[in-house]
Amino acid sequence: MRPRKIPQRKCVACQQMMAKKELIRIVRSPAGEIAIDLTGKKPGRGAYLCGKVSCFKLAKKSKAFERALATPVEAEIYDRLEAEFIRVEDEFQAAKELEDADDGIE
Ligand SMILES: [Zn+2]
Repeated sequence: MRPRKIPQRKCVACQQMMAKKELIRIVRSPAGEIAIDLTGKKPGRGAYLCGKVSCFKLAKKSKAFERALATPVEAEIYDRLEAEFIRVEDEFQAAKELEDADDGIE
């Protein structure tokens, strides 16, 4: 039995390749707004981060979002995203655990 091919994405901070669902997507909408996209389906250019605050801080330090989203990201946006990131982290981890449980009955 071979596992299905799982789409992989790279965390913009630690450069680790991971299954897409293990990562949190940051999206720049066509209107230029930068937000966390927990659904992974919002239109726009995306950057992926593993669901760890340490990686968010690393991305902030290395300006990884600027590069990945090809747009300047102001300090206030980083601050807002960081607060949101910390808030959604628990939610994200919980959702992931639920999904993992579902995998067994797929
Ligand atoms: Zn990472």
